[in-house]
Amino acid sequence: MKKIAVIKGDGIGPEIVIGAIKVLDVISKKYNFPVEYTDVLMGGIAIEETGVPLPKETIDICKNSDAVLLGSVGGPKWDTLPGNLRPEAGLLGIRKALDVFANLRPAILFPQLKEASALKPEILKDNIDIMVIRELTGGIYFGERSRIDLEDGGQKAWDTMAYSTYEIERIAKVGFETARKRTKKLTLVDKANVLESSRLWREVVSKMAADYPDINFEVQLVDSCAMQLIRNPSQFDTILTENMFGDILSDEASMLTGSLGMLPSASLGNTTLGIYEPIHGSAPDIAGLDIANPIATIMSVAMMLRYSFNMEDAAKDIEDAVSKVLDKNYRTLDIMGPGMISVGTIEMSDLIVKEII
Ligand code: NAD
Repeated sequence: MKKIAVIKGDGIGPEIVIGAIKVLDVISKKYNFPVEYTDVLMGGIAIEETGVPLPKETIDICKNSDAVLLGSVGGPKWDTLPGNLRPEAGLLGIRKALDVFANLRPAILFPQLKEASALKPEILKDNIDIMVIRELTGGIYFGERSRIDLEDGGQKAWDTMAYSTYEIERIAKVGFETARKRTKKLTLVDKANVLESSRLWREVVSKMAADYPDINFEVQLVDSCAMQLIRNPSQFDTILTENMFGDILSDEASMLTGSLGMLPSASLGNTTLGIYEPIHGSAPDIAGLDIANPIATIMSVAMMLRYSFNMEDAAKDIEDAVSKVLDKNYRTLDIMGPGMISVGTIEMSDLIVKEII
């Protein structure tokens, strides 16, 4: 029995998670493993119902599950709340509570979606297949922050980016090992020309590179990487970087692939328990309209099967089903192109389910 905690969240969250659960249901029947779902609250809906973005019950149930399936949280309704009470605090809190320090974000361009990419075909070349590995539980999003009033008026605010050798080593290990299973190229992205924390990253990771002689290890400054992702994306295979740089670069990489709505993620720690979620947010502008793309969440289920349940065939089955539906020219609005067939969130999920059965 696989126990799955389900956090539908806010905005389009519930719509896309329902599609992903339909896919998980049919996969669990096909590959013969029973699944038990427990719905838990997080984000804006948790604030409404319990007063806090991450109730203790949610943490307890997630900790006792085999995997967590997450939609997305947040929305304008809660934007004016203090930082520690905003929906996003739930997101940071659950990552910290489950100690999932490695965020794996593949940016893969489906050949069927070349048209939807923001880049010209000659820059895209044959393919885009980049894995961004982002540190998830340290750095500036978790460092000390504060704000003070200044005597001569106005205010001063600061956030701190702090990393320990231990935090860098454990994520770098994920980086090297992931690169080893791919094309054996690892790019460390930092800002070592300015930031002391980046200099520590560079020292630690460069030293570890000696233990991975088969990996083609290189370093790149984050500003250069942001530019190179647009100029020559196919030079990258596995990118390893700290929390905030990874947040920004993985969104940038996503646009190379056509839409935020296509990209999944896995957040992993030292155990098989992981959090699986699309990289996009709660898209309040399209919530409830049945037009959101459920593919990122469905592909996140494939990552769940691969990384938490070690079921590569089942994961591949889902990815192939998505590809077949795209081959048949079905598109949600965000990836729509000339001559394609427009479908909504529910229909897209059902089409993928049909390909799996
Ligand atoms: P967003 O990712 O929600 O939306 C950006 C744009 O992409 C919007 O135009 C949206 O309609 C579109 N989009 C996103 N997902 C889509 C999908 N599946 N199908 C089709 N179109 C899609 O980012 P935002 O607008 O900056 O943030 C909205 C809210 O989400 C904010 O409250 C933010 O804090 C929150 N957020 C949550 C997460 C998370 O839960 N992991 C991540 C990022 C942002």
